[in-house]
Amino acid sequence: MTKKELVFIGPPASGKGTQTNRLSIETGLPHIDTGSLLRAAIANKTEDGLLAKTFIDKGQLVPIQVVTNIIKNALLADDCKNGFILDGFPRNMEQAESLENILSEVNKNDKNYDFKVIFFDKPFNTLLKRIINRRSCPKCGEIYNLETIPPKVANVCDKCGAELVQRKDDTEEVASKRFETYNKETFPLIAYYKEKGSLVTIDADGNPDEVYKNLINII
Ligand code: AMP
Repeated sequence: MTKKELVFIGPPASGKGTQTNRLSIETGLPHIDTGSLLRAAIANKTEDGLLAKTFIDKGQLVPIQVVTNIIKNALLADDCKNGFILDGFPRNMEQAESLENILSEVNKNDKNYDFKVIFFDKPFNTLLKRIINRRSCPKCGEIYNLETIPPKVANVCDKCGAELVQRKDDTEEVASKRFETYNKETFPLIAYYKEKGSLVTIDADGNPDEVYKNLINII
């Protein structure tokens, strides 16, 4: 069976999290999401987590050593033997090079893999509002939007009943900085992966079911 190595890139609040959560449940491929892994490290007050927090709170990228360690351990784990869904890494050229090194190790005994970078294309003008209205479940990771996908009961996760939270970096001020970081550091990766022939662009502006259908067709 061809191993599916799927990397997701897109601006903050482009819907990557919602789609990759669903894709992971329906395909069984592990979802490796650097933002969630870093937030878990912060919650557990690990050394990496405490360091990461100072960058996340400012909307900046966390130093590469911290994220590379997390990603390397995750990608070398046994549950990635059929592939993975990588969400939020790489986020700049240095991380793209680091991913190439990690994958050459991961794939050294297995040449039967399909590596794709899926770019979530979504107009910027709608994104800030989505960020401010976003709420998520700290227990199962389900993502809501107070306007477009509200929970059935206010502030309670439909799936597991936990109380929903707003991310600390989902304020207007930090989100604006995150867009700036994305434009400067992450966006150039689109041209890089296009040049390499790995890029697939998905119109992420439709309703979530439509976007998911398109996603299944391209992977
Ligand atoms: P996200 O949940 O993907 O929106 O990420 C939240 C924050 O975590 C970002 O604004 C960064 O501060 C940090 N972060 C997530 N992924 C990375 C990464 N690959 N490299 C550096 N920082 C990251």
